[in-house]
Amino acid sequence: MNILVLNSGSSSIKYNLWSMNDKKLLCKGIIEKIGYKDSSMSCKNGDNEKKIEQLIKNHSEGIQLILNTLTDKSIGILSDIKEINAVGHRVVHGGEDITSSELVTPEIKSIIKDCIQLAPLHNPHNLEGIDVIEKILPGVPNVAVFDTAFHSSMPPKAYIYPLPYKFYEKYKIRKYGFHGTSHKYVAHRAAEILGIKYENFNCITCHLGNGSSLTAVRHGVSVDTTMGFTPLAGLPMGTRTGNIDPSIITYMIENLGYSTDDVSRILNKESGFKGISGISSDMRDLNKAARSGNERAILTYNIFAHSAKKFIGGLATEMKGRLDAVIFTGGIGENSYESRELICDGLEIFGAKMDIEKNKFRGDERIISKDDSEVKIMVVPTNEELMIAIETELLVK
Ligand code: ADP
Repeated sequence: MNILVLNSGSSSIKYNLWSMNDKKLLCKGIIEKIGYKDSSMSCKNGDNEKKIEQLIKNHSEGIQLILNTLTDKSIGILSDIKEINAVGHRVVHGGEDITSSELVTPEIKSIIKDCIQLAPLHNPHNLEGIDVIEKILPGVPNVAVFDTAFHSSMPPKAYIYPLPYKFYEKYKIRKYGFHGTSHKYVAHRAAEILGIKYENFNCITCHLGNGSSLTAVRHGVSVDTTMGFTPLAGLPMGTRTGNIDPSIITYMIENLGYSTDDVSRILNKESGFKGISGISSDMRDLNKAARSGNERAILTYNIFAHSAKKFIGGLATEMKGRLDAVIFTGGIGENSYESRELICDGLEIFGAKMDIEKNKFRGDERIISKDDSEVKIMVVPTNEELMIAIETELLVK
């Protein structure tokens, strides 16, 4: 079975084509800057790479270009587009009603649409991707794989905010959590590596990238996570604040004269690593600056690690007696051993002992704790696309 995986963003579409018989990635690519003059598509089929620079006006043109490329004589992998058996779509928000991946039906599309107000930057484009495939590939099943679904197992004590209850009942203001597909993938993979039955596996998954979130996975399901009603909550991130005292917002508006638009921009786009360091939102730049002794870069690292450590400690108390592993993933989690080392300094208190030497590598699947560490510390590169392909296959089979 061949499954096309689409991740439609505001101005980009990432795609993967998977052969599910052997879980092999056949080809992948990305379209960037949709709607701009310098839009382009890069695709990769084994060692064969190609960049197509052309005007791609909208998502419909983008997806058509992807399908043309899949059957292209020089870089294509399929002889006919009919060889695509199903399409899996990443959808960011499914709200409260979605608890698992779903075959796309008019009802599911209307739920995705209703959630646009909760994820205005993502859901419209995720939906557009589905609409375009329905038009171009009629009869091919579409599956929606939701970032929020993995966290639907959280108990109310984890997802209800201490606001007047009507804000939950009437306005659905609650913690939803994000990065679910990534947390689920790395939790499964880590259990497999450690030879622990997934249903018995207890771990904390740390997805650290431009956006970061941590999840407590008990007996294979999410019981709490650090992102909240929106992906602004939790750890400080590339440009996002993470948790701050909510009064700061009213103070900025009432005493400092900022508008709500200003505050939203500052909290989402000008804070986090970028805001603290004044250098960059990118961990690689901060690493360079910290090595040369830049104090604000060092402070940024320390704030990030301090926050991650506190969350790990809190989430560990949800494990009811046994924590099997702390797992790092995402661009920072997989690559920044400096961050991993700072974050794990102190976790010995509950039996997670990092081996500093084993930790010194980037981007691979490894156990990085000492041999006698009760809790394993691991790096597991995420593969959200494969997870989407697996969920899609399960639903269309
Ligand atoms: P997104 O959340 O957009 O998917 P990624 O998971 O790709 O982001 O993570 C991006 C982050 O990973 C950036 O801060 C980047 O600096 C960091 N990163 C990527 N490679 C490295 C590296 N070799 N060393 C340190 N940090 C890295």
